[in-house]
Amino acid sequence: MTQLQDLASVPNIHGHFGPYGGMFVPETLMKPLQELETAYHVAHQDPDFQTELNTLLRDFCGRPTPLYFSERLTEKLGGARIFLKREDLLHTGAHKINNALGQILLARRMGKSRIIAETGAGQHGVATATVAARFGLECVVYMGAVDMQRQALNVVRMRLLGAKVVAVTAGQATLKEAVNEAMRDWVTHSGTTHYILGSALGAHPYPMMVRDFHRVIGEETRRQILEREKRLPDLLVACVGGGSNAIGFFHAFLADASVRLVGVEGGGEGILPGRHAARFQGGKIGIFQGTKTWLLANADGQIESTHSISAGLDYPAVGPEHSLLHELGRAEYDYATDSEALEAFQTLSRLEGILPALESAHALAYVCKVAPALSRDQIVIANLSGRGDKDVQQVAEMLDILIQK
Ligand SMILES: *Cc1c(COP(=O)(O)O)cnc(C)c1O
Repeated sequence: MTQLQDLASVPNIHGHFGPYGGMFVPETLMKPLQELETAYHVAHQDPDFQTELNTLLRDFCGRPTPLYFSERLTEKLGGARIFLKREDLLHTGAHKINNALGQILLARRMGKSRIIAETGAGQHGVATATVAARFGLECVVYMGAVDMQRQALNVVRMRLLGAKVVAVTAGQATLKEAVNEAMRDWVTHSGTTHYILGSALGAHPYPMMVRDFHRVIGEETRRQILEREKRLPDLLVACVGGGSNAIGFFHAFLADASVRLVGVEGGGEGILPGRHAARFQGGKIGIFQGTKTWLLANADGQIESTHSISAGLDYPAVGPEHSLLHELGRAEYDYATDSEALEAFQTLSRLEGILPALESAHALAYVCKVAPALSRDQIVIANLSGRGDKDVQQVAEMLDILIQK
């Protein structure tokens, strides 16, 4: 298990990533999960499935995305050369559509007529509503009432795409509660319904399947940097909510020991209970929403409330594969605070003419911190997981920029 090559072969057939992962669900969910796992294995090995997926990734979503040399950011920081993997340029504005598209193709093969999803920032809901419209399937998206307010524009987008958005008011009324509602729906309707889970989280086979649909990010990056620079990068940086953009970005480099991998979690207002979403800082190992992984819980094992400026990072558990990479030391995990992310958001906007998603701004904040100390011949690649259009109103309020009254 400590061999780097072995990392490419997790999870095992039971969905275990070393001691993490698994299928910790009520018995009623075992059957739909096993049906999904079987269908996925067949599809994954079917060249027709891969061809259809790749064609739509290219023509509908806009792959491959560019690897962009961030010249002015590099100049300003004065250290390593910085590249950005431009997932923000994908259709619907974030990496999420890689997975939503893969899963809806699978749902069609399985003969499902109805799609459900949960969403935090709204990006996964928008991606799911988009592919559901494209294939003419009924779509219901569960979203925390608080997130619906933070991301009002995405709610409108989903409704315009024909999806039904259901407000979830339980608990903190954010992503965690939306996942619970979606699982409840799935238990009742699994005969007709496929649940498109939005991150590398939850019970097996989701963490594996979602990762596989995002592996294209790292595969393209590897090819692009080798073509351009004739060598591998020194450091890859990605933000980590559930961990899907990060694992998709990292995966093609796992066996390259010279490439450092850093995941950046939401540090919120600092590492105090209830004020952040950095599971590897002040978290512990436990079982939550179907999987064994690092999470934020109090001494009694109750899930802690979380906070991040960014709805997409505001979740108490991390994907199980990241827990394994953390344990093996293959990837490192750090955090950026709300104010550091906000600063990085402005830096990229002004220097490069790119408004990043607040989630992606966490990865950029880390790059801004470490790049100056690296030498000019080193290469850093940050995954720009999404664009910042959805965050404009929130950022305007925080920076006190007047939106015309
Ligand atoms: C949802 C989202 C994230 C966080 O999700 P991961 O599964 O950790 O990738 C990050 N960036 C953007 C733009 C998102 O929409």
